[in-house]
Amino acid sequence: MMRRLPVYFLLDVSESMLGLPLRQLETGMEQIIRSLRTDPQALESVYLSVVAFAGKADVIVPLIDVVSFYPPRLPVGSGTALGAALNCLMDNIEKDVVKTTTERRGDWKPVIFLMTDGRPTDNTDEAVRRWNTEFAHRAQLVAITLGDQADTSVLSKMTDDVLCLEGNDGKTFKQFIDWISASVTATSYLVESNAGAGVSLAKKPTGLTLVKDFPVHTASAVDESVVVLTGRCQKSERPYLIKYNRSDDAGFGEQEFELEGAFPIEESFFAWSAIDKEGAQVNTDQLIGVPACPHCGNGTAFAMCSCGGLLCTDGAGPYSCPWCKTEGMFSEGSDGDFDVTRGMG
Ligand SMILES: [Zn+2]
Ligand SMILES: [Zn+2]
Repeated sequence: MMRRLPVYFLLDVSESMLGLPLRQLETGMEQIIRSLRTDPQALESVYLSVVAFAGKADVIVPLIDVVSFYPPRLPVGSGTALGAALNCLMDNIEKDVVKTTTERRGDWKPVIFLMTDGRPTDNTDEAVRRWNTEFAHRAQLVAITLGDQADTSVLSKMTDDVLCLEGNDGKTFKQFIDWISASVTATSYLVESNAGAGVSLAKKPTGLTLVKDFPVHTASAVDESVVVLTGRCQKSERPYLIKYNRSDDAGFGEQEFELEGAFPIEESFFAWSAIDKEGAQVNTDQLIGVPACPHCGNGTAFAMCSCGGLLCTDGAGPYSCPWCKTEGMFSEGSDGDFDVTRGMG
C-alpha cells in the first residue's frame, strides 16, 4: 500500500472571520485542491482533512485522497476554542494516521496548517502539553495568523513555524494559497526521496512573514477587536450576524466600532458557538452604523425586543419577535442608547 502524506487544515471559523476572510478560505481550499490535482505525486500520496473550530471544534472533511476531496462550505460560530480544536485534531491524527511497525511502513508525518485570526477563548494549556509530549515529534505544525490581531504566544509554544499573513487583498491571499499548495507538493516529493524528512515550506511570498516576537496575551472571554451581534429576520426568522470592527479613531481610553456589515448565516451557527455565560455587553453608543436586514431588506437589522433579542424592522409600529414569539410595539424615535449582548468573536 502507498504511504500516505496526511495534510490537515485546522481552520478558525469564528465570527471575526465572517465575510471576506471566510470566503477567501473557501476559495483558497478550492484553489489548493485544483493545484494538487495537477501533480502526479500529490495525487498519489496526499490525503486531506479539514477540522473547523469556533466555540466548538469538529471534523468537516475526514481524511480523504485528493481526487475524492470536495472543498467544503465553512460554517461560522461564536468563540475561538483553540484548545478544543487541538484536541479534536490530535484525536483524529491518532485515529487516521497509520503508524510504522516492524511489519508495515506507516504513513508519512502528518502536516498541519493551522489558520486563525483571533485569541483563544478556552483554556489551551492541557492541549498544548498533549501536543508537545505526544505529537510534536511525529507531526509538523505550521501556524498562520491572518492579520495582526491573533495571539501568537500559544502557537509559539507548539511550533517554530508561526507565520503572519498581513493584508487580505485578493492578490496577497492568492499568493499565500499558492504557497501552501507548493509546500504540500514539495513535501510529497521530499518524503518519497528522503524518509523521515519533515515539511518542506516553499519560498514565502510577500505579505507572509515569520513571527519572531510573541506578545503575551491572557485568555479573554471575548475578542476585543470585533463586536459581533446575532439577530433574526422578523419576516423569515432566519439568523444573521452584524459585524463591527474596532476603530483606530477613538480617543484615548475609548472604544468605538465601525460597521462592516450584516451577514446571513445558517442555523448551524448556534451549534458551532460557545455559550458565553458572562454575556459580555456592548453599548450602542460605541457602535457606528446600522445595517439593513440581509434577508428581507428591512431598513434596520438593529432593533431590540424586550426579551433582549435583535430583529429587523422597517420602522415604528407593531412587531412580532422571532426569538421569544411575542408581539410588541416599536415607538417612534426610540433611539436612546442601550446595551446588547455581544458574541465571543
Ligand atoms: Zn428581515
Ligand atoms: Zn423577543
